[in-house]
Amino acid sequence: MPVLSYLHQLFCAETCQAYIHTLRWKDRPFQCPRCQSQDVRPWGHYHYRPGLKRYWCRGCRRTFNDLTHTLFAQSQRSLSHWILATFLLCLSCSSRRIAREVGVHIRTSFRWCWWLRNAALSYEMHRQLEGTVEADELYHTVGNKGQAQHGRKKLLGRRPRHRRKKREPGRGHYDKDRPAMIAWASRQGPIVVQAVKDFTLKTVQQATDLAVQAGSRLYTDSASSYRALKGYLHEFVNHTQKEYVRGEVHENWAECLFSLLKPYLRLFRGISNYNLPGYLGFFQFLRNFRSQKAFEQAELILQAALDPAIASRARQGEFVTCFDHFDLLQTAIN
Ligand SMILES: [Zn+2]
Repeated sequence: MPVLSYLHQLFCAETCQAYIHTLRWKDRPFQCPRCQSQDVRPWGHYHYRPGLKRYWCRGCRRTFNDLTHTLFAQSQRSLSHWILATFLLCLSCSSRRIAREVGVHIRTSFRWCWWLRNAALSYEMHRQLEGTVEADELYHTVGNKGQAQHGRKKLLGRRPRHRRKKREPGRGHYDKDRPAMIAWASRQGPIVVQAVKDFTLKTVQQATDLAVQAGSRLYTDSASSYRALKGYLHEFVNHTQKEYVRGEVHENWAECLFSLLKPYLRLFRGISNYNLPGYLGFFQFLRNFRSQKAFEQAELILQAALDPAIASRARQGEFVTCFDHFDLLQTAIN
């Protein structure tokens, strides 16, 4: 038996609280989260949470603390659990792995992971690429992984495919559990990854308008949906004629991105089509902040999670829903 079961047992609770206190008020005015009054004063401590300070607001005559209205409010677990879980999430761990390493139930860690992914997506909501942008598409098998609501038997609407779906010939489609993913890689660094229903001209035009600024230079392969794009300076290489590079024109950066994305998605051992945009969005966040260390990325997520406006939306899963290009494109097509 090891002497210590979990890493976070070494963390000092008061240091964690002081760190969270600094993060919460670093770029925000110190004020009451309920009525925004700045007329507040210290109001003691909690005997069961060492280091957590309490404040009294004279505006609404109520108390609050550093965690009120954040993602960590009313959590039974200590902040060291949360900090370690966020760090492991940035090291691309699955929620089951996080549950084992942190010592919480799988359902708890699954919920935390989704809240934290949503908080991370708040950095990626309005990202648009410019300059020289490469694009490529990939089809990924997704399914209906997960439990039915309220624990009943899940109705798939089809025969179970026993985890290894036989691939149908031709391009994939959302309705055939094989949606397309489009990767946009700017040569200046940032990337955008989108999940779309299909690969028709209309869909690709809408996806491009979302991801890339009008007038940018686009390099793609010779797929007809790219060739019909309007509003961009477009050049392509013809893979069917074994042409992969022509001077500056190639899409090797976008293809390279898929060689990183595929192992990342494989980690989760099957993905639900409902959750795919969330995983892609988090991968996009990790890649766009790749110059930072995993803990610096975790700190960005923690800082977003401490913002009351972001926290309430993250609990509802709103960022993934906004990021969900399936829905966006479906309403536009209908
Ligand atoms: Zn107040």
